[in-house]
Amino acid sequence: MSEIESAKIESIASSLRKIVSEEFVSAALIERIVSAEDTFSYELREEEVPYAVVMPGSKEEISEILKFANKEKIPVFVRGSASQLAGSTRPHTHGIMLSIDRLNKMEILEDYNFFECGPGCIVAKVAEELGRLGFFLPVYPGSRRIARMGGIVSNNTSAHIVDTSIGKLGDYILGVEVVLPNGDILETGTKGMRRPAGTDLTKFFVGGDGLLGVITKIRIRLVPDFEYSYAVVYFNDVRSLTRGVQRMYYEKRPSPLLMEMMNEETARVGFSAKGLPAPKGAVLFFESIGYSKEEAETRREQVIQSLKAENPIEVERMEGIEEWEGIVSTREVIASFLCQNSGAQWKAAEVIPNLKYLPEATEECENFTQGLPICGSLEHYLYGHIGAVSLHPGILIPRDWDSEKQREAIKELFEREAELNLKYGGCGGEWGQFSKRTSFFIRRYGKEGYEFVKSIKKAIDPNNILNPGILEGYR
Ligand SMILES: Cc1cc2nc3c(=O)[nH]c(=O)nc-3n(C[C@H](O)[C@H](O)[C@H](O)COP(=O)(O)OP(=O)(O)OC[C@H]3O[C@@H](n4cnc5c(N)ncnc54)[C@H](O)[C@@H]3O)c2cc1C
Repeated sequence: MSEIESAKIESIASSLRKIVSEEFVSAALIERIVSAEDTFSYELREEEVPYAVVMPGSKEEISEILKFANKEKIPVFVRGSASQLAGSTRPHTHGIMLSIDRLNKMEILEDYNFFECGPGCIVAKVAEELGRLGFFLPVYPGSRRIARMGGIVSNNTSAHIVDTSIGKLGDYILGVEVVLPNGDILETGTKGMRRPAGTDLTKFFVGGDGLLGVITKIRIRLVPDFEYSYAVVYFNDVRSLTRGVQRMYYEKRPSPLLMEMMNEETARVGFSAKGLPAPKGAVLFFESIGYSKEEAETRREQVIQSLKAENPIEVERMEGIEEWEGIVSTREVIASFLCQNSGAQWKAAEVIPNLKYLPEATEECENFTQGLPICGSLEHYLYGHIGAVSLHPGILIPRDWDSEKQREAIKELFEREAELNLKYGGCGGEWGQFSKRTSFFIRRYGKEGYEFVKSIKKAIDPNNILNPGILEGYR
């Protein structure tokens, strides 16, 4: 590192220490490197390492940091747990890494029927706190033990939850507190139980891909927990499984809260990892909900009726949560089991076809790597949140490939994802719309759609200080 660079790093860190107490600012190389790493295993490039890492403890401190960054024209990158899967947490250039981990307070206000939490709260902990009082957090990501509420809200993911069942998390968000890129502080929404009609400022930030402000508090309506009923269904192949899902919709069945699938090869991995005998075929499992046990069971039977019309090998009703958690774990363990056993890195894509061509799209996803120059020979697997008509074809990228080859493989994966989403009319429903998906966004929504977002960003953040690179697709 040149003397000029070292002096710049020291000067930035020392300015940050005037805003945030010393222990929460670091210019140590190791912390700067770790803070820029994400879920991709290729190495960081020198220019991706931030100048400093800062952990503010309040909205006022964040406001001061952004004012300073604007004055000095230094990019600011916001980071939760960096578990986003489309590349938006790894910076493409030097800047200040702003961690929201310390904003982790949560308050449940039952008399108002909402709760408020900081963006640094871990999703699983929020769900546990709510669960203790009989409430349900309407988002359920595989990453819930690491992902933070700020990242989840910026993506507005429903994760495993079937959108047609209870909607997305954003449908429950009454308002947010946010620091704009120029340092102004804004509170959106309402403390009432009804979300605003007409212009609702909350919508610019929920699912805003972290472009327009740093979310510092989130207010979410309380949702009473449900009663549940569970089933697992085995099919000969994914075609009959996906036809069953089509039927469920065409026959107007009540959407389950969760409905997951694995093709037979993928299910074999999960079942073996959990010490179970090999599955009887492609696996679909689902969880129906109701406000009474009877209602949940009636809804389960209605879904089963549609699935049965596609001649499944077996339908198994589960009576308890333990059995359900057992089958869920066969799906959740797949990525880590494959990585541990092969020493490779698991990377999935997100293909969301229209309902009409679901069987065809699923078969294409089973052959996801076919014809790809780099990924063509790699092992690949398929699971999905099939109730949400959402598929995750995934590949294993060898870790001994050099970094550039790994980057190229990831690029190819996102290009194939884009090709299939364009062909079947969908778009990502979980991991945001930009970063590695920017070129897809432009193809999907045209120059006009892209310019629309760019002009909003430019109006709010003329110096492009907050999270640059996401919208441009540099990340
Ligand atoms: C093993 C694994 C399983 C996963 N399973 C799922 C799944 O089932 N469903 C799903 O949808 N996703 C899943 N993900 C993806 C990921 O967990 C989510 O995208 C999550 O929303 C990211 O949370 P985070 O705290 O890691 O945010 P980060 O990755 O740190 O940030 C994500 C984006 O939000 C921005 N951001 C973060 N906090 C703020 C804030 N306070 N204000 C403004 N912008 C902010 C960041 O700048 C970044 O652009 C999974 C990831 C992993 C590694």
